Amino acid sequence: MKTEKSEALYNVAKDYFPGGVNSPVRAFRSVGGTPLFLKRGKGSRMWDEDDNEYIDFCCSWGPLILGHCHSRVEDAIIETVKNGTSFGAPTKAENDLASLIISNNPFIEKIRFVSSGTEAVMSAIRLARGYTNRQKIVKFEGCFHGHSDSLLVKAGSGLATFGISSSAGVPEALAQETIVLPLDDEHAVKECFEKYHGQIACVIIEPVPANNGLLLQRKEYLQYLREICTQEGTLLLFDEVISGFRLGFTGASGYYGIKPDLLTFGKIIGGGMPVGAYGASKEIMAKISPDGNVYQAGTLSGNPVAMNAGKAQLNECLKPDFYTGLEKKTEKLVNAVKNHIEQHHYPANIISVHSLFWIYFSKDTIRKASDIDPAGMDHFRQFFHSLLGKGVYLGPSGYEVGFVSEAHTDEDIRITTEAFCSSLDEIFGK
Ligand code: PLP
Repeated sequence: MKTEKSEALYNVAKDYFPGGVNSPVRAFRSVGGTPLFLKRGKGSRMWDEDDNEYIDFCCSWGPLILGHCHSRVEDAIIETVKNGTSFGAPTKAENDLASLIISNNPFIEKIRFVSSGTEAVMSAIRLARGYTNRQKIVKFEGCFHGHSDSLLVKAGSGLATFGISSSAGVPEALAQETIVLPLDDEHAVKECFEKYHGQIACVIIEPVPANNGLLLQRKEYLQYLREICTQEGTLLLFDEVISGFRLGFTGASGYYGIKPDLLTFGKIIGGGMPVGAYGASKEIMAKISPDGNVYQAGTLSGNPVAMNAGKAQLNECLKPDFYTGLEKKTEKLVNAVKNHIEQHHYPANIISVHSLFWIYFSKDTIRKASDIDPAGMDHFRQFFHSLLGKGVYLGPSGYEVGFVSEAHTDEDIRITTEAFCSSLDEIFGK
């Protein structure tokens, strides 16, 4: 595999950007080697600067549920840009996307668009604090909610990759307001509410934690969180930046049938353009400025290009059988690889939910960040590079999940299945 052009570009980038990148996991630190510089994508495929072709299972970390350059999304972006890229004033495009989301989602009555998932979560946390008049928040070890100060404590793959649990630069006083609990542990939650009775503004969780491996939670556990939050007057915040519009149109909330008080979205709702959103009941959202006293604003919030790209993408997601088709494709890949692993007794596992999958190299069922054996990451490093050589691209960290898109064909799934199985054979020396 030729990587000369990527290497040259990376050397230049290192002079411009910390670590040569504008987001840490892109630097390939956990898998080693040179980050690939991508130049084009179409459907399920993408090409790097050295003209290597890959079947893409990173899909820009989730937003590209239709694959690269879907014609409807592309047309929507081009048509919008012709009339201006930003006004800093209301546009019909915002109403259109809000209507599409709210009329198809029973969990929110009002929404506010922002420019990233980080901004959505940061704003939703402020709203929870403003609404409840309480300061403390509870989050879970291994869940990532973006890089705002309050939430950068034990926060998933990016930090796990670098072997640190929290970021420098977060004021101690603020970190103390964030209580971090292990996932999958009702007792820890109960104890925490006993200790901080009347002080907890919200409990934030990725209902399908997908940033530190895929840590699928028991439904009863999520229901327990719902119940204890209701009892304690604490808001339950489901961060659905990844799971929203991926586990069906109503996300993980719909999948589990649990209604959170606050929801955050991002990724898919912008059709590949920068976006985020948070939503709740009319009563809770009435606290947001200019109606209420919780301030939040943004120059590019509700950007028309992102709104129309998101609308085009979500209209495709609403088509009959869209999600069942995606799920079937994912299951085909996962079941075939799982059979291969079992047949050969390899110390590996592959799991999925809807169109998210995760391959890992440690014990059978993993529901907590601390259950992941870091030694398995050495195997992932080999696996990742072996797959690259076969033209299959995963996110460059063993803590990241894979994303299947509508654009992946049966042939892509067949090629990928073969590539996964033969890469496992190489690693485990069949
Ligand atoms: N919340 C979750 C669950 C995420 O997965 C992410 C990003 O991966 C974020 C929040 C932050 O979103 P963004 O990267 O758009 O700021």
